[in-house]
Amino acid sequence: MKPIAIVFGCTGQDGSYLCKSLIEKNFEVIGTTRTNNVNLKRLNTLGIADQVDIIACNLENSNQTENTIKKYNPREIYNLSAQSSVGDSFKKPAETQRSIVDATLNILEVCREINFKGNIFFAGSSEIFGSTNKPANLTSKIDLKSPYATAKYQSYLLSKMYREIYKINCVTGILFNHESPLRDERFVIKKIINAAIKIKYGNKERLTLGNLSIKRDWGYAKEYVEAMQLINRSKLNRDYIICTGESHSLRTIVEKTFEQLELNYLEHIIVSKDLYRQNEIENSSGDYRSLQEDLGWKAEVKIDELIKKLITEEITNKYQS
Ligand code: NDP
Repeated sequence: MKPIAIVFGCTGQDGSYLCKSLIEKNFEVIGTTRTNNVNLKRLNTLGIADQVDIIACNLENSNQTENTIKKYNPREIYNLSAQSSVGDSFKKPAETQRSIVDATLNILEVCREINFKGNIFFAGSSEIFGSTNKPANLTSKIDLKSPYATAKYQSYLLSKMYREIYKINCVTGILFNHESPLRDERFVIKKIINAAIKIKYGNKERLTLGNLSIKRDWGYAKEYVEAMQLINRSKLNRDYIICTGESHSLRTIVEKTFEQLELNYLEHIIVSKDLYRQNEIENSSGDYRSLQEDLGWKAEVKIDELIKKLITEEITNKYQS
């Protein structure tokens, strides 16, 4: 019999890549979505929509969470489900809190009650560190600048508490930004790639962006879901930082994207103070050395290759099909 994995939040960017990777590793994959109106776009793009057993489960509902975990009694659980936009979290603080903290607590409580012996991975976020002046690790200062960061920090602490007190095998991967062609269009890198390609194909409209000096550690989602699995299966049962170790400004991303399309970004963008984020984090970078030393994981795709992948896939999917 195949081992079972439940991916909570299977319709998102990471959920879709993770489902694919688990299927390739011969898992039976149960994927959850909150709605009956399931968004299969990403799973279809990866050609696996019919290989994931998709069920409705809202983690904010403890009965639904309990029924799902008890019914499948999986070997592995991944919780990727969340209101995942930092920007939106300022407009939806309560929804963000519920989608992250209530969801985490519900999973952990069910697992405590049934004495769950499988492994549980929670998607944490680098946003908990605020601005970093050196690459962040698990001992770095916490500085919560958004409702999203606050919720992710609570979730991280809950998982740590259930691991230490109730001996549940649960871990958090603290993820720095990661992108892919499957990224939602609300996120800035996807917005830049899409706009630059449209301009290349003749669109005259300028791209309006906010603060170009912010720096982030940007990786490739497809690689990050491999790190999630290594962390979840590890006997060390501890939390890790998942990042590339390189930080680049948004200006660099814009410049490189337009350059790869043989365009000069200065001619095509407008910077608007209206798009500057409230409580903006200036610089965010991470330290992946523990993950490399303990589990042998290191990001291979760095910024130039990432931009190239995003451009190539976007052009292939939308302009050459
Ligand atoms: P996505 O936004 O692509 O997917 C998250 C999924 O969560 C959605 O598809 C949605 O599925 C579900 N969801 C549950 N509650 C809500 C809600 N209130 N509003 C919107 N969606 C909700 O996220 P990613 O795949 O990019 O990220 C996966 C996880 O990793 C998330 O927990 C995110 O916070 C975390 N993370 C991601 C980073 C990144 O750079 N991508 C960086 C750091 C952390 P449905 O509608 O089907 O229920």
